[in-house]
Amino acid sequence: MIVARTGELAEELLAAGELRCPLCRDGQLSSWGYGRRRTVRDHDDATITVRPRRTRCRSCSATHIVMPAALQPRHADTTAVIGTALLHKAHGLGHRAISAIMGRPLSTVRRWFRRLPPAHVDRLARAGTEQLLALDPDTFTTLRYQGNMLHHALSLLAAAAYWDRRRYGLDEPRWTLIGMYTRGRLLAPPG
Ligand SMILES: [Zn+2]
Repeated sequence: MIVARTGELAEELLAAGELRCPLCRDGQLSSWGYGRRRTVRDHDDATITVRPRRTRCRSCSATHIVMPAALQPRHADTTAVIGTALLHKAHGLGHRAISAIMGRPLSTVRRWFRRLPPAHVDRLARAGTEQLLALDPDTFTTLRYQGNMLHHALSLLAAAAYWDRRRYGLDEPRWTLIGMYTRGRLLAPPG
């Protein structure tokens, strides 16, 4: 799977022959139809329907789905929805309160948070650190760890998104950029 900032951007890169195979690292990717159409839930009752592009490597023949960063693979909710739930948790809200605020079943909220082991939260923090150091080292030095690693990781990621938007004039929502930084994995994959 490849995570793209937007589906449109991925199409442009694909047409220009600039998407490379993540498996063999070298092969040029070309269009190879589409993946399954999926509808995911955004904030409130909004939904987003996408048909992710499928690509095929000209060198090793592997196929890869291109997933827009606004979506989380294998989840029925957008990056923004899941990210907002993580932010509520980082601010100390319990699962029931988050379920009520976000209008999602308690079982869904619990399933998200089961995919948040400490090692994964560390990975989120590393992804945020890497981006923020590249964008604005001064902000990085002001963000001190204060005992809540999830809060720290989300602060690093949000600061990076802030600087990315400001410095490069990116229009994408903050959570979409965070979806990019974390390669479509705000939550740890199953298993
Ligand atoms: Zn390849």
